[in-house]
Amino acid sequence: MKKVYLDNASTTQVHPEVIQEMTKVLSEDYGNPSSTHSFGRNAKSILELSRKSIAKKLNASAQEIIFTSCGTEANNWILRSAVRDLKIKRIILSKIEHHAVIQTVESLQKEFNIQVDYVLVKPNGEIDITDLVDLLSQETKTLVSLMHVNNEIGTVLDIDKVGRICLQNNALFHSDMVQSIGKTEIDLQTLSIDFVVASAHKFHGPKGVGFAYVKKNSGLQPLFFGGEQEKGLRPGTEAVHQIAGMARALELSYMNLETERIYIQELKYYLIAKLEVEFSAFEINGNQDGFYTILNILLPFSDDKTAMILFHLDMKGIAVSRGSACQSGSVKPSHVLAEMLSNEDLKKPSLRISFSHFNTKEDIDLLVEGLKSI
Ligand code: PLP
Repeated sequence: MKKVYLDNASTTQVHPEVIQEMTKVLSEDYGNPSSTHSFGRNAKSILELSRKSIAKKLNASAQEIIFTSCGTEANNWILRSAVRDLKIKRIILSKIEHHAVIQTVESLQKEFNIQVDYVLVKPNGEIDITDLVDLLSQETKTLVSLMHVNNEIGTVLDIDKVGRICLQNNALFHSDMVQSIGKTEIDLQTLSIDFVVASAHKFHGPKGVGFAYVKKNSGLQPLFFGGEQEKGLRPGTEAVHQIAGMARALELSYMNLETERIYIQELKYYLIAKLEVEFSAFEINGNQDGFYTILNILLPFSDDKTAMILFHLDMKGIAVSRGSACQSGSVKPSHVLAEMLSNEDLKKPSLRISFSHFNTKEDIDLLVEGLKSI
């Protein structure tokens, strides 16, 4: 049975060249980057070259890139230190952020009694910028946390505009860019943004490594203590092989960005065209012009079919998702769709199909055949 992986917003296949790079580092460059002997210096050099390479792709300076164990850690660190150390008194976010942001903010609200405001989300899943401007008219010291590309519905935030609005209103801006880094051009010199988060496994790198972009002189302090690594901001021996793999993955992503984007976009249009033929009553959740790697659809299936849909596709070797991976085993409706859909539509099956350049038209044909047989 041919297996079909269309769940690339959950995680991606590691690129073979990334595996090669990581295997080399694991077997040959095993020194501790903090050691002063040649083994350590060699590892340190790999680490710093990786940092430079990542910074260059995003037009940041190397010192602004701090390696972490994942996107979740980086989000936790930035939000917590902003409240604890930068004395942020208020966070503005949306109800469709990733749980790594929502639950962190909820916990900070309980612990530090900060003010939390949720910006309105339009029915198409876009952030209501007018509401954001209204919310920012208060004087309180504020951080705005809004993701670039939504991981469930693929709506895209105008980060340039939001950055300028935050600057005008003296608010800090944090953006979870886990779904967009490696998949679209990001120029951190021209954007007005203080903190960005990325995760390697979303762009064909390894799991268990990510990074934070922290603008120079931000004043952020570490989450935990015990070493001088990452300028003391993130102590712990660096996972050199993971970091080298992440840097290689990002290099490959940006090297092939334009061709892969065109290819993936075409796959997405191909799927939409096929769905229009086979399930004419289907709907797209979110914006019609959402990000090219993600399509979230509402299918006109009866209640009895709804419960079994993922299971049925899985039996055919087809992997898609109902929402974010962390929730896909749960029976609760997605918190993102709950913000946008009517109660009636929430009962119908919604599927998130997310693409990578490893997918083919045959994968799409098999998915559509799979859906037809339900
Ligand atoms: N933020 C977004 C938007 C995500 O899609 C994910 C992954 O699901 C995360 C954060 C968490 O990243 P990580 O798996 O590296 O902790």
